[in-house]
Amino acid sequence: MTEADKRVNLDQLDHDSCRSWDYSQDFCVTCGICSSMCPVSGIDDFDPRKLVRMISLGMENEAVDSRWPWICTMCGKCEASCPMEIKISSIVRKIRSLRERDEVPGILHKGLETALKTGNNLGLPKEDFEFILEDVAEEIAEEPSFENFTVEIDKKGANILTTIHNKLVNTHTDDLKHWWKIFHAAGEDWTVPSENWEGTNWGLFTGDDEAMKKMSGRIVDHMKNLGAKNLLWPE
Ligand code: SF4
Ligand code: SF4
Repeated sequence: MTEADKRVNLDQLDHDSCRSWDYSQDFCVTCGICSSMCPVSGIDDFDPRKLVRMISLGMENEAVDSRWPWICTMCGKCEASCPMEIKISSIVRKIRSLRERDEVPGILHKGLETALKTGNNLGLPKEDFEFILEDVAEEIAEEPSFENFTVEIDKKGANILTTIHNKLVNTHTDDLKHWWKIFHAAGEDWTVPSENWEGTNWGLFTGDDEAMKKMSGRIVDHMKNLGAKNLLWPE
């Protein structure tokens, strides 16, 4: 599957295999616009146009076994530029959903399991999370014009509730500062939940609908329980 010039015997394919897939894959005119837009086109011979053609031909098993769907970042650039409006990123997600869960690539599989169990992909305990947020807030408060800066965790009735990307409390804590400072400068009323704060929904990325709903539901619960007016879900 990885050799670009691998030949397929069309007579041996079950052309009805993906017939029920409702992503307009059969309308592909092989224009290649998706391939030229795709930021990961060429990696291990990946090319969204080829993947669409595989599904159109009924090569479901080959697509599910392939590494290609996992190379895709699901950015959606291909889909946005496809003249035939083929739902390419939905095709990718559908293929991912058909993988046995324990064969989902390691970091995604482990991250999702950890998030479902602990509320975040890192397995960061609540106390450590709060410590990191307050530490970042203290650093901001040391800067001129931000002397009164604090982070309000689990504040009720805030105008904005924001989720956090796990890397922002792991390796990129400085990146939290930029938008927190904007909140401060704008006089915004905002808060962060102390638990289930993960903004990265790996249920979405792994094609696991149940997990996606569970993680999304947690955010919805925050909105209700904390009475926040608006949700900022940076991901
Ligand atoms: S942009 Fe759309 S029509 Fe063109 S090759 Fe890609 S999937 Fe096919
Ligand atoms: S969604 Fe996937 S296939 Fe489409 S452009 Fe982005 S990375 Fe490429």
